[in-house]
Amino acid sequence: MKRQILEFLVCPACLPDEVPPALIERDSSGSDVIDGSLECGRCGTIYPIKSGVAEIVPPSMVFPDGTAARYEDPAMLSEYLWSHYADMFQDPEASTSYTEWAGEFSASAGTALDAGCATGRLTFELARKFDFAVGIDRSMSFVSAARKLLRTGKLKFQVREEGLICSEREIVLRWRPINLEFIVADAHALPFRSGAFAGVASLNILDKVSRPLDHLLETSRVARLRQAQLLISDPFSWSEEVCPPENWLGGTPDGNFSGPALENITGLLSGTGALVRPSWSIARRGAVWWKIRNHANHFELIRSVFIKAERAGGWKAQDSVRMMMN
Ligand SMILES: [Zn+2]
Repeated sequence: MKRQILEFLVCPACLPDEVPPALIERDSSGSDVIDGSLECGRCGTIYPIKSGVAEIVPPSMVFPDGTAARYEDPAMLSEYLWSHYADMFQDPEASTSYTEWAGEFSASAGTALDAGCATGRLTFELARKFDFAVGIDRSMSFVSAARKLLRTGKLKFQVREEGLICSEREIVLRWRPINLEFIVADAHALPFRSGAFAGVASLNILDKVSRPLDHLLETSRVARLRQAQLLISDPFSWSEEVCPPENWLGGTPDGNFSGPALENITGLLSGTGALVRPSWSIARRGAVWWKIRNHANHFELIRSVFIKAERAGGWKAQDSVRMMMN
C-alpha cells in the first residue's frame, strides 16, 4: 500500500464518524508498505496489509451475502482480465468499453476513485487523467492481479478455449503509471474521508451489491463538494440472489424506486431530496457496450447505461438552509 493514500483513509467500521487509522509498518520498500496494519484507535479494528495489499473491510461486512466469494473464483478472474485488457494483447474480439468510460472524464487535478474496480483497467485509465487514482474492490484475487500488473507492467493468465482446454495470454501495459493504488474495500462503506476525490466512478457494481442505495450515497459522500465528476454506469441486471427487490433502485412496478433505475438515480443525484447534498448536475446520459468472454465461442454483450454528473460550484446558500431544515 502506497503511504500517500493514508491521507484519504478513515476506519469504515466507524462511519459515519471519520476516524483516521494509524499505520503500523513491519516491512516496506520505498513508498510501499509491504507488511503491516492499519489500526483504528476508536473501535480497535485492525486492518491487515499483506504482500502490499491493504484489506480495509469492516468486520461486520466480511462476505455478508455469500455471493462475494464467487469473485475469488479463478475462472471469474480470467473473464474479468480478458474483459479489461484484451486490447492490450490485440485480441480481435476486444471491446473499447473501458476507454469509452474513461473518455467521459475530463482531465483534472486531484485524486480519482474507481469504486468496484475489479481487475483495475479503469483505474489505470483514470491515472492518466488525474494526479492519482485509487481502485477498490471486495475481491482479493482481483486486487492482487491489478496490483501485480501495476508493479511489473505485465501479467500472464489462462483463458478458456473450449471445455477443459485453456491457453495463455499475457497483458503488457502500454504505459507504466506509478500514480495509482489498489486496495480491498467494501463498496457499501468506503474507507475514505468525505470530499476526498475529484473524480469517482462506479462501473457495473450497483446491481451486484446488497444495498445499492448505500453504495450510491457513498460515491457521492467521498466526492468533493465542488469541481467534482461522478460516473455511474450499470446494466441494472437486478437479481434477488444478490439483493432483495425492496433494495433495488429500479426495475419494480411499485415502491420507492419503481420504474427505470436510470431515472431514479438521476432524481437522487440531481433532485431536491435530502439524501445527496450538494446535488449534482447531470452532464450526460448514455450507454457503453461491455463484453465478457466465457470461452472461445461464447461472449456476453452487456449494455451498461450511464450517468455522468458534475459539481461545478460549491455550496449554495439555499442548500445550507435546506440542509439545516432537514
Ligand atoms: Zn474504527
